[in-house]
Amino acid sequence: MRITHAFERTFPVPAPFRNATVDLSGMTTSVVAVVSDVVRQGRPLIGYAFSSFGRYSCGGPLRDRFFGRLLGADPADYQDDAGGCIDPARVSRLLMRNEKRAGHAERSMSLGTLEFALWDLAAKAKERPLCRLLAERYAPTEPADRVPVYVGGGFYRDGDIRHAALLDELRRYQDAGYRRVKIKAGGLPLRDDLRRIETAAEVVGGPNLALDLSCAFSDSDATAFATAVTPLDLWWLEEPCDPLDFEAYRRVSEVYPGLIAGGENLFSRQEVLNFLRYGPVPRRTILQPDPPLCYGVDEFARLVHEATAMGLPRHHVLPHGGNLMSLHVAAGLGLDSAESYPGLFGPFGGFGDQVRIEDGVVSVPTAPGIGFETQGPLFDLMRELTREVA
Ligand code: MG
Repeated sequence: MRITHAFERTFPVPAPFRNATVDLSGMTTSVVAVVSDVVRQGRPLIGYAFSSFGRYSCGGPLRDRFFGRLLGADPADYQDDAGGCIDPARVSRLLMRNEKRAGHAERSMSLGTLEFALWDLAAKAKERPLCRLLAERYAPTEPADRVPVYVGGGFYRDGDIRHAALLDELRRYQDAGYRRVKIKAGGLPLRDDLRRIETAAEVVGGPNLALDLSCAFSDSDATAFATAVTPLDLWWLEEPCDPLDFEAYRRVSEVYPGLIAGGENLFSRQEVLNFLRYGPVPRRTILQPDPPLCYGVDEFARLVHEATAMGLPRHHVLPHGGNLMSLHVAAGLGLDSAESYPGLFGPFGGFGDQVRIEDGVVSVPTAPGIGFETQGPLFDLMRELTREVA
């Protein structure tokens, strides 16, 4: 198999809300497509991906250097051992030639998104869902066909003074079959925020409620916040401090008896390993890197392997990003939970037509590849990129 074309286009992500630190209304994402010389039913086989959520689009490095390296490579250098199909991990290693170490965020999202498009292509070529390929390569077990799921939602919305919109949102999730929910916190004065959190906890129950603080606090403010919410017996506190201030994480986790989550703003295996070494108390750490944002599947799988070797329970690794890419990673690598963004982020949120949510568990799509073809409005956007070749 040879890659004949590669495309990237930036799209706006509909997100008219904010977390504690960022107004997301101007958010964008990169859609990537890789076209192969394999023809099925008269059309070239194509892999697609997008660069998840929460960071802006990442097309610059792709257009400036990675697409050129990919299209200029000898296809013999990126075939799998059986021959006849690309090996996405081999492509990634090839694209990293002549890249200096560290400085990960400058390229990890571009390479991660491109790698996912290559996985989509490889899985389609083998006519199997991506999670099955991932399990065979990286996991000791069969892929799960159902995965526990939680909602990442509860953003701050202008004018929601009495939290009526938040309550409606939480009840909508419960009606749709979700049981566990994460809401944003840390974006109001503490007394007002506590009232909002207690309101949410009354609906879903404290142990089913996680709080995402979106890196809002210094360590002393984070400690005060954590102490104030301790009686609610919450599921976890996420990103209380700057993602690279590992010492602050450690100090918060020393006074807070529950789980502390982090990792969506770490972009490499090395950053994650440092977080585990120097961050929150290890047995109470939830690790949640976003696979397309941190170099893709191969790096993520190695990261899981090394994190669990350091003693992190496997069920404490929860890939960030409520999309089909992270769902396949959770199912394929035998992880305990996937995130979901039902009704958020326009065509980029949700899981598509094949997926069912029931009593807090999500089914994994069986379509070949990642299955974006089952996510109509998103796939309509993806197809725009490849109109000239397919
Ligand atoms: Mg978060």
